[in-house]
Amino acid sequence: MAADTAHNIGPVILLGPPGAGKGTQSRRIVERYGVPQVSTGDLLRENVRQGTPLGIQVKDVMARGELVPDELMYDMVAERLRRTDCERGYVLDGFPRTSAQAAWLDAFLQREFFEKLQRGKCLPIVIRIGVDYNGLLRRITGRRSCPVCGRIYNVYSQPPRVADTCDVEGSKLVTRDDDREEVIRERLAAYELQTKPVVEYYAHKGRLHCVDGDASVEQVTKQIWRLLEGERSGE
Ligand code: AMP
Repeated sequence: MAADTAHNIGPVILLGPPGAGKGTQSRRIVERYGVPQVSTGDLLRENVRQGTPLGIQVKDVMARGELVPDELMYDMVAERLRRTDCERGYVLDGFPRTSAQAAWLDAFLQREFFEKLQRGKCLPIVIRIGVDYNGLLRRITGRRSCPVCGRIYNVYSQPPRVADTCDVEGSKLVTRDDDREEVIRERLAAYELQTKPVVEYYAHKGRLHCVDGDASVEQVTKQIWRLLEGERSGE
């Protein structure tokens, strides 16, 4: 399917605990609208892999499943959002994770994209993917990804055609280091503690939309597309 580049969807923020399907839904938005996915987890992992000064600083924190300190995030995110491929919009996956990051993002967009904001095109659409906590642990421990193309599978809900093998690349699927059970518990605790206030931050501003993340992947995608096209059609 060719990307629908006629829709300028602006910034889209997906919120939800680890395992809610943010990564999967981000990819679907990317494919449909031809905008980039900006995943702070991926950006950080790339820094760790390349051994950059930032990567060295965050490696242990990430391995423990804790959040990287806010101040270490801002330059990396700002640099990414200024790139020209973000002009028609982008999907923020995994950012903001704290209310300080949400306030920073609002200030950043005001400062750098003031003209667009005036025309209403730069205000983020914030979508919360709500899921039942009991099913979460199972969803996360079932998660596998392709080390070559990054496609995400789930051994329970979205298995590859051949066990442990990417449908597209034929490569062996991997489990992320921080998807191990003891690390997941830490990540869920971090979500509870620090990310829920982000949901409240946007709810308070009247900018929060909710979709039912326990529905099928297809249905969740449809809910999100409806929201994005409904929101932007008046502009
Ligand atoms: P993710 O791939 O989004 O689950 O992120 C993996 C890990 O990267 C998290 O457990 C954190 O250690 C770190 N991380 C990603 N995004 C952020 C963020 N916005 N703020 C702080 N740490 C983050």
